[in-house]
Amino acid sequence: MTDILKVLQVSKNFVKPIDIASKVVNMFGNFYNQEVVHAVDNVSFNVTSGEVVGVVGESGCGKSTLGRMIAGILPLTSGKLDFHDQHYSGFDEGNYKHNSHIDLKIQMIFQDPFSSLNPRQKIIDIISEAPIHHKLISKKDKKYFVKDILNKVGLGTDAMDRFPHQFSGGQRQRIGIARALAVSPEFIVCDESIAALDVSIQAQVINLFLKLRQDLNLTYLFISHDIGVIQHIADRVVVMYLGQIVETASSDEIFSHPNHPYTKALLEGVPTLDTKKKIYTPIKGEIPSPINPPSGCYFHPRCKFSTNKCITDKPSYKEVSPNHFSACHLNS
Ligand code: SF4
Repeated sequence: MTDILKVLQVSKNFVKPIDIASKVVNMFGNFYNQEVVHAVDNVSFNVTSGEVVGVVGESGCGKSTLGRMIAGILPLTSGKLDFHDQHYSGFDEGNYKHNSHIDLKIQMIFQDPFSSLNPRQKIIDIISEAPIHHKLISKKDKKYFVKDILNKVGLGTDAMDRFPHQFSGGQRQRIGIARALAVSPEFIVCDESIAALDVSIQAQVINLFLKLRQDLNLTYLFISHDIGVIQHIADRVVVMYLGQIVETASSDEIFSHPNHPYTKALLEGVPTLDTKKKIYTPIKGEIPSPINPPSGCYFHPRCKFSTNKCITDKPSYKEVSPNHFSACHLNS
């Protein structure tokens, strides 16, 4: 098994623009420090060809920002990204470089395909636009080409001449998937791609993703706030908290032997119908601001196992069992 993607010490900061009040403060000689949001903080992991890696964490943990950097939509602040061992985004000898040829090989599917589908374009044109633009197909072949892709995502040929508003949410997501597939990607970043769908439709779309992986030899980075969804689809799981990875392991290992208190808290927060077996316990407190993260372990203000050491010292990210890594002082 070879690594298709290497994420190497990747970070992303956003500088908050200063408001008028702060500009006035600066005019009177009091220096106002610009606020920096540390959205993704020194993240490293690899993805093996054909694998589904699930990235999970609460809203605001940096997982979507990470996905956008990997898909080439956002530039990195530091670190680098390799695809098939070829450097395609990030810093090399101090200069930012981006190889846009690799962007076609990495496609992204968003939560709400409707907002990214042109309401005035027919489906045939939505799906064929990018492959014609990149000269992957000729205009005369587009009908046959789109028919084939619609078939792959479970939509009939009659969808070709219709407009986005004529489809249900689940069908629109299939159109979004078809559009991503149209440029023959190898790697797909799914960012909350089923979050807006009804639960029964979610299962159908997950099955479609898994079938396409098999048929087209795809690799996925599957981003979700819902650890139950990740359990259904991922081979391996990356757990993020406040821009950092706190735990990584195979899906079987994470769900049978979670190590990090944050992962355990996420799992306790999954509601179940069998109330005798498990009580629904949401994680206490709010996720802290990435502008001013807590000292020591970022999770300490919400962790029921927190000690003085957790407040002062940052835990190191260690292998706690083969290919299972976690960042917690309890493993010291
Ligand atoms: Fe909790 Fe401390 Fe472990 Fe952080 S290092 S997760 S605060 S026990």
